[in-house]
Amino acid sequence: MKSFRKELWFEVPTRRAFVNITDEVDICLEESEIKEGLALVNAMHITASVFINDNESGLHADYEKWLEALAPHAPITQYKHNLTGEDNGDAHLKRQVMGREVVVAITNGRLDFGPWEQIFYGEFDGGRKKRVLVKIIGE
Ligand code: ZN
Repeated sequence: MKSFRKELWFEVPTRRAFVNITDEVDICLEESEIKEGLALVNAMHITASVFINDNESGLHADYEKWLEALAPHAPITQYKHNLTGEDNGDAHLKRQVMGREVVVAITNGRLDFGPWEQIFYGEFDGGRKKRVLVKIIGE
């Protein structure tokens, strides 16, 4: 069995953003030379997500509105987590809802997606460098 590991780095200038990382994961798959197997893609930070959905700007605006309704950033005093001196209590909750990782089947050397599926990095506490882990195993 072959095994491939790579860290992708992101520095999102805004507090929150969704970044399509499908092409970066595709490049990892090419580098791995794995034709049949599984690809795990996970955020390595507890205030960021990796998820699969449609690459559609209206949907991304809907996520932003929905997540802010669920866990508004301000006022930051509403979160006990922020008593530690941080201001990212909302970002931990948003990450929980949007998920830590995705697993994609590899078939014939391709990411075996359903229709319209794309991989996104969800940033909820940006303005610093953060990592996504790509681990691919197979033959
Ligand atoms: Zn925190």
